[in-house]
Amino acid sequence: MNAQREGYVDVLVIGAGVAGATAALSAARAGCGSGGGRVMLVERSAWPREKVCGCCLGGRGVAALGGVGIERTRLLEMGYVLESAEVRCGARSAVLPLAGRAGGGVVVGRKELDGLLVARAVEAGVEFVPSCSARLAPQRGINGWLVSLRTPMGERSVRAGVVIVADGLSGRSLDAVAGMGVCVASSARMGVGATARWGCVRDRTGRDALPVGRVVLCAGRGGYVGLVRLRDGCVDIAGALDPGVVKVGGGPVGVVEGMLRGAGLCVDGAMPEKFGGTALLTRRRSCIALPGLLVVGDSAGYVEPFTGEGMTWAACGGEMAGVLAMRESAEGAAGLWSGWHAEHVRARQGLCRAVSAGLRVPGLAGVVAWAVGRSPAVRGFAERVALWVSGPGFGRGAHVATGTQGGLA
Ligand SMILES: Cc1cc2nc3c(=O)[nH]c(=O)nc-3n(C[C@H](O)[C@H](O)[C@H](O)COP(=O)(O)OP(=O)(O)OC[C@H]3O[C@@H](n4cnc5c(N)ncnc54)[C@H](O)[C@@H]3O)c2cc1C
Repeated sequence: MNAQREGYVDVLVIGAGVAGATAALSAARAGCGSGGGRVMLVERSAWPREKVCGCCLGGRGVAALGGVGIERTRLLEMGYVLESAEVRCGARSAVLPLAGRAGGGVVVGRKELDGLLVARAVEAGVEFVPSCSARLAPQRGINGWLVSLRTPMGERSVRAGVVIVADGLSGRSLDAVAGMGVCVASSARMGVGATARWGCVRDRTGRDALPVGRVVLCAGRGGYVGLVRLRDGCVDIAGALDPGVVKVGGGPVGVVEGMLRGAGLCVDGAMPEKFGGTALLTRRRSCIALPGLLVVGDSAGYVEPFTGEGMTWAACGGEMAGVLAMRESAEGAAGLWSGWHAEHVRARQGLCRAVSAGLRVPGLAGVVAWAVGRSPAVRGFAERVALWVSGPGFGRGAHVATGTQGGLA
């Protein structure tokens, strides 16, 4: 590389979660056939890092990862087929079967998944810089965006032709850029999570309530918590809780313990001593694209995890943004990205918002669980909703429909 291009990257991706790592991998693959280009992925945390997440990746997310060369079989080596979801609310519960569909979801730990995506991106030629916090200058210059990179070794700047911002819920890399503010809902919940070394998780009858491949969601006053067994035998615990309830309850440990008890679950083992937490969840960014700047994943907006599709949107969005960044002009990529996001992500977030609002109505989750358990028609409807939100069917076809010049063949 010549000296002039030393401080220049064609695509800079900020944040190595599912959205950012998929975007970097997608950009590197898209660049391969068209003369290449320098792709850099920076991550604020030391690597690998923990992430609060329910670890259930929907069918569309699996398909999007297939589009960047991560095979379903590879994901299953790190996890399980997502067989079923159970919703428990007080004495009521309902199980939705999810397996058996071509292209269904998988259960996979986040450390393993994000680690695999970053490793594949590096293999594809991406420069990965962990422990590096990025921040954009207020405006784009003639040669792209100037981005300051802070590492334990000091601070430097790079200029990027396109920046893909995937800095999640707590990212501040766009703080200096006017018009890119985030609006957080006044009723927003916080995410909490931990992993537990539990033996059996039993229901009131003493049966194993957490078989491999099942996600169990316990809804109660103040939020809900999900449990799923990971490949290493640990149980992933992830919940969305009202911050006020967490404060009154003296922290998430007691609140989660109470929710499990309220749902009739009893665990063989101790509660984890500490839970990780997230920023407030329900939010929307006022603008998600400017010339040479695409915002993807949670950084663009998020609702709540109940319907379990955040990683799917992150993976599908990352795949799309990576291709646009590499193959379109700075202005063209911004326009196409805004359109794709409105059509495929915002539309689905509307449904998730409605489900989240319904869950806040006292007793409604229990009534729905009861109806799903008794009525095949209601169960069929719930399954169709689940499929629409995170099942197979939107991916490459949707990309092509946006008019992406280079296609994704
Ligand atoms: C409790 C809970 C349960 C969930 N369960 C599920 C589920 O079962 N299924 C599902 O699909 N989704 C689930 N989600 C949602 C899912 O976790 C997110 O939607 C997904 O992680 C979004 O990925 P992302 O890449 O956008 O963000 P993240 O995974 O948060 O990655 C953002 C990255 O950016 C880095 N970063 C931040 N600022 C900077 C900076 N300035 N410079 C460099 N790096 C930076 C961060 O360190 C982080 O690693 C859940 C969420 C919560 C809170």
